Amino acid sequence: QSVFEHVQQAPEDPILGVTVAFNKDPSPLKVNLGVGAYRTEEGKPLVLDVVRKAEQQLVADRSRNKEYQPITGIAQFNKLSAKLILGANSPAIAENRVATVQVLSGTGALRVGAEFISRHYAKPIVFLPNPTWGNHNKIFPLGGVPQKPYRYYDPNTRGLDYQGMIEDLKAAPDGAVILLHACAHNPTGVDPTEEQWEGIRKVIRSKQQLPFFDCAYQGFASGSLDKDAYAVRTFVADGGECFIAQSYAKNMGLYGERVGALSVVCKSAPVASRVDSQLKMVIRPMYSSPPAHGAAIAATILADGRLFQEWTVELKAMADRIISMRHQLYDALKARGTPGDWTHVLKQIGMFTFTGLNKEQVQFMTREYHIYMTSDGRISMAGLSSRTVPHLADAIHAAVI
Ligand code: PMP
Repeated sequence: QSVFEHVQQAPEDPILGVTVAFNKDPSPLKVNLGVGAYRTEEGKPLVLDVVRKAEQQLVADRSRNKEYQPITGIAQFNKLSAKLILGANSPAIAENRVATVQVLSGTGALRVGAEFISRHYAKPIVFLPNPTWGNHNKIFPLGGVPQKPYRYYDPNTRGLDYQGMIEDLKAAPDGAVILLHACAHNPTGVDPTEEQWEGIRKVIRSKQQLPFFDCAYQGFASGSLDKDAYAVRTFVADGGECFIAQSYAKNMGLYGERVGALSVVCKSAPVASRVDSQLKMVIRPMYSSPPAHGAAIAATILADGRLFQEWTVELKAMADRIISMRHQLYDALKARGTPGDWTHVLKQIGMFTFTGLNKEQVQFMTREYHIYMTSDGRISMAGLSSRTVPHLADAIHAAVI
C-alpha cells in the first residue's frame, strides 16, 4: 500500500478544467470559450510576428548563453516594464522609487507580492472584488494574506455596483490591501469610469489603504497601452504607494513563457532599494531565479522603437478583433430575437463577456451545443470567430427561451 493511499482526487481547476472537458469531446461543433487565450479567426493560437522577430534576434546572437539570471531577472526588462505601465515620464521612475522584479507572469507577481506583504506589511489582509479571477482567493491566503470580498458587480445592471464598492472600501480597515483590476476586469468585463476611479482613489488614499493593481490586460482592453494604464497612473500620480502585477501573457501572447513583473511604488529611493532586497528574500527560496527566454523576448521588443511600434499595431489588431466579436454576437442575438437586454455584450471590456447565463444554462449549452465555458457564464470573446458566433448565438437563444 502506498503511503499516499489516503490522498483524495482533487477537483479540476474551475477554468483549466473546462479545457480538459473540451479536449475529451469528439464533436466537430465544439467551441472552447473557457480559457482566456487569444485565438485567430481560424481558431488557432497566435504567435505575434514581433515575437518571432525578437526570438530570431536572440537565437542569432551567439554571445548569449544559458547562465542563471539574477534573482530578480533581467534588469532591463524590469526597467522597461515599469516604464510601460507607469509611463515614460513617470516621476516615480525618475526618482528611483519603484522596485521592479521579473517574476513568473501575473500569477507569480501576485504570489511574490502577497508573501512580501505578509512578511513586511502591518495590515496583511486583502480585499478582493466580488467576483474576481478565480485564482486570487487562493494565491493571497497561500501567500500569507487572508482575503475578504468587496462588492463590485451588480447582476441587475450587469455593470459596476459603484455605491456598494465605495461603502465596502469605507468599511474596510484603514491600511487594508485593496486588489484592483487595472483594466478589463476578469471575469465581468466591467471597469469603473474615469470619474469612478477618482472616487475609488480618494477613499483608498483617505484610509491609507494599499492598492494592489493586477494588470493582466494592458493594451488588450482598448487597444491602447496608455489608455489601459489610466487607473494605475492616476494612483501613482498622487504620490502614494502601490503594488503592480504585470503579465505579458495576453498582450504579447507569451502565455507559456511565464513573463511578468512585480513593481512596488514606494515613497523614496532608499525604501524602494530595501524593498527590492527583501523581494529577493521572498524569491530565492521559492524558485531561485526566473526563466530567461520569455523576458528576453519582451525586453527586446520594449527596447527597440521599431519592434515596439510593430507590437502596438499587432496588439490593437487583437483588441479590435475581440471588439468586433462583441458586435457580431450582439447582432446575432438581436437577429434571433433572443429575449433580454444584451447590450452588456457591447459594453463590457476586454477578453471576457459575463453573459449573465446561470449554471444550468451553461450546462445546457455544453451538453446540447458543445460550447465550453466557465460555470459562472463567462465567455472568452477571444475564442470566438465569425464562423462560431452563429452557433453560440443559437445556443444562447435556446438556453434562455
Ligand atoms: N490576473 C488576472 C485578472 C488574469 O485574468 C490572469 C490571467 N488569466 C492573471 C492574473 C495571470 O495570468 P498569468 O499568470 O498567465 O500571467
